[in-house]
Amino acid sequence: MPLPEAKIFRSRADKKVDESHRPLVKSLLEKLGQYMDPASLAEVDLACEYGAQAHEGQTRQSGEAYISHPVAVAGILGEMRMDSRTIVAAILHDVVEDTPVTVEQLAEKFGDDVALLVDGVSKVSQLELDSRENAETSETASFRKMFMAMAQDIRVIIIKLCDRLHNMRTLGSLKEEKRQRIARQTLDIYAPIANRIGMRELCNTLEDLSLQNLRPKRYRAIKKMLANNSRGRKSIIDEACRKINVALHHHNIIAEVGGREKTIYSIYRKAKKQSKIDLRDIADINALRVITDNRNQCYLVLGIVHTIFKPRPASFKDYIAIPKANGYQSLHTSVFGPYGQPVEVQIRSRAMHRVAESGVASHWRYKTDATDESAPQQLAQKWLSSFLESQQMSPDSGEFIEHLKADLYPDEVYVFTPKGDIKRLPRGATALDFAYSVHSDIGNRCIGARIDNRPVPLYENLRNGNHIEIITSNRSRPEPGWLNYAVTSKARTTIRHNLNKQKTKQSVKLGHKLIKKALWDQGYRRLRIPSNHKIALLEALDLKDWPELLADIGFGKRLAPLVAKQFLAEVMLPEKTATTKRKNNKTNYGKMTIEGTEGLLVNYAKCCHPIPDDRIIGTTTSDRGLVIHRLRCPNTRSVMKHPDQFFHLNWSEKIKGNFEVLLTLTSRNQPGVLSELTNIIASHEANINKLTVEEQSGNVSRMSFVIEVQNRDHLADIMRELHLDKSVIKLQRAR
Ligand code: MN
Repeated sequence: MPLPEAKIFRSRADKKVDESHRPLVKSLLEKLGQYMDPASLAEVDLACEYGAQAHEGQTRQSGEAYISHPVAVAGILGEMRMDSRTIVAAILHDVVEDTPVTVEQLAEKFGDDVALLVDGVSKVSQLELDSRENAETSETASFRKMFMAMAQDIRVIIIKLCDRLHNMRTLGSLKEEKRQRIARQTLDIYAPIANRIGMRELCNTLEDLSLQNLRPKRYRAIKKMLANNSRGRKSIIDEACRKINVALHHHNIIAEVGGREKTIYSIYRKAKKQSKIDLRDIADINALRVITDNRNQCYLVLGIVHTIFKPRPASFKDYIAIPKANGYQSLHTSVFGPYGQPVEVQIRSRAMHRVAESGVASHWRYKTDATDESAPQQLAQKWLSSFLESQQMSPDSGEFIEHLKADLYPDEVYVFTPKGDIKRLPRGATALDFAYSVHSDIGNRCIGARIDNRPVPLYENLRNGNHIEIITSNRSRPEPGWLNYAVTSKARTTIRHNLNKQKTKQSVKLGHKLIKKALWDQGYRRLRIPSNHKIALLEALDLKDWPELLADIGFGKRLAPLVAKQFLAEVMLPEKTATTKRKNNKTNYGKMTIEGTEGLLVNYAKCCHPIPDDRIIGTTTSDRGLVIHRLRCPNTRSVMKHPDQFFHLNWSEKIKGNFEVLLTLTSRNQPGVLSELTNIIASHEANINKLTVEEQSGNVSRMSFVIEVQNRDHLADIMRELHLDKSVIKLQRAR
C-alpha cells in the first residue's frame, strides 16, 4: 500500500511524531555541510524525514529506531565526501525493501538517479536473503544476479559496502550464529570487492571486523601482540625514518616518511599462508612508507633508500610501471634496516596514495579527474562491464563464481608475449592459461611452451617477468587432463566446451559400436540397420534422431543390451531372437575390440589397471562412457550378475600406446635399493608415474609403483628382472 503524501508531510507540531532521529540528522547535516551546498543539504534533510516516516515503528535489533541505520550509512559516505545523490540514496536504501514505498514513488520525489541507486541496493539485499533461504546451488545463481545489480552503477557498490560496514560495526546485538554468517559473507564477498575496486581502507576495516567475529580469540591475541611489539619496533622504525629523512634533505627532496601499521587481518592471513605458529615472526616485520610529490621522485627516493640500506634480494616490486588491476601504484622494496632487521618500504606519490587508500571513491573525495584511462573509476567500470559481457557468454553460474573468485583475489603475475605485450594472469596460472589468454585457438592447438627460451611443459607455472612462447600443432586437441592445471576461467570454459564437443562426436561412434555388438549378441545378423527399423525403435523410445540415441548409448545414459532387446522386440519376430541369443553370447565372434584410440569415452579403471592382453570386460556408466576392468576385478562383482550391464571385450591386435599398471613390492632396506629398482624399470623403457615408499620395520620397505607398459609381455619382462634383484622379497601386480 503506497504511503499517502499527507502522512509524509505531517506538521512538526503534531505531538505523535517521533523526533528521536533529529539529533542524528543534525550531526549528519553538519558533517555534510563541510562540502555540500545548502540546496543539497535541504534535500538530504528531506530524505531523512521521508525515510524516518517510512520506517516509523521499525526498530533495529539493538532497539534503536530503524532510521538510525541509514543515517549512519549516509554519515560514512559523507566522510568519503560522496555526492549528494549517493547520500540521499543511502538514507533511503532500505525503504523499498522494508516499507510499502515503491521505486516509482522515489523516482517522482527524488529523481530517477536516486531511485535507480536504491533499486540496485535493494536487489542486492533481496538476493542476500534468497541465497540464505535456498539450497547451495542457487547461492551461486543469486550471487551472480547480485553482482549484476551492483555492476549497473559503481555507487551501488559503494553504498552497499558502507551499509555492510555499519552492519558489521553493530553486529553485537545479533545472535552468535547470525554474526558468524554475516562476517563470513563479508570476508568472502564484500571485502574482496572493496579491495578489487581499490577501497583499501574500507576493506581493511571489513576484514578486521570479520575476523573479530569469526575468530575472536585469535583476533585478540594478535591485537595484544601488536601492542606489545610496537614499542620494540618503534626504535627501529624511528631510526630508519631518521636516516632516510637526513638523506632526502641532502638531496633536496621533500617527502613524508613514517611508520606504517599492519592490520590484524593481514597478519592473520600471512600467518595462515605460511602456516607459522609463532605470530611474532610475522608481526615483527617493520614497515614504513615514503610519500613524495610526484612519480619521478619515487624512483629517486628508491635509489636513496637502497644506498642507505642494503636491499634484500628479489624483494623489489614496481607497481608504478605496472599498476595493480584496481589502479594501485607504489614501489615496494624490502631492505636490511638499522640493526640488520628487515624493513619493508613503500614509496608512492601523494596522488598514488589517495588511490591506494580510497580507490574508486578517491574521485569523490579528492575531486580527481575520472576520465583518465588509468583512473580507478575507469578501471572498475571496465572490470564490471567485462562481467556483464561474460555473463552473456557463459550461462553457468558456477563458472561465473569461479571467474569472479579468481578475479577478486589480488595475486597476479605479469608475463610477456613474444611481441613484448604484457599479460596479466592470476597467480598459479600455467603456460596453458597463457596460451588461452592469447587466443582460444592457440590454446586449443598448443602442445608445449618455451619460457625465457627454455622448453617447458604446459603445466609449468608462470612467474613475474617470464617471456612466453607457445608451440602449437594442428593435430593437437584439448585433453581432459588439462583441466587439472588450467586455472583461468577463459581456459577452463574453452577446454570444457571443446571436450564436450569431442565427447559428443566420440560418443556417437562408440554408441554405434556398442549397439551393433549388442544386436549381434542377441541374434540380429544384419550389417546395416535399415532405416525403417531405426524409425520404429526411435518411435518406441520417443527420440528424435538416430545419432542422439547413439550418443546416449556412448555416454552410458542408456545400456546397449537393453536398447537392443527393445529394438528386437519392436522390429523382429520374438521367437527368432530367443533361440539365437544364448548360443551367440558364448562365442567371441562379434566381440567389440578396444584399439586404445577411442578417446575420452573409453576409460581404463584405476582399481585394476587393465593392460593389453589382459582379459577384460566393459561396463557403462553415465557420463564417463565405457569403463574397462580386468575380468576378475573385485569392483565388477555386482555388475557381473547382470548380463545386461557389461560386455566382454577384446584388445585389438594393432593396439599401441602406454597403459598404467600398479606394482607393489616389498624389499630389504639397503643403500641405493630404490635407485636400483627404478633403473631396472627405466631400462625397459617404462615410465614411472607414481611412487610411494613406506618403511615397515627397520629393514623392510613396502613400495608401490604406477608404471606405464605396452602390454602383458612388456610387464612380464620388467617383473622378471625385478624379481632377480637380491633386495626384492615380494613383488606382485596389484588388483
Ligand atoms: Mn541497510
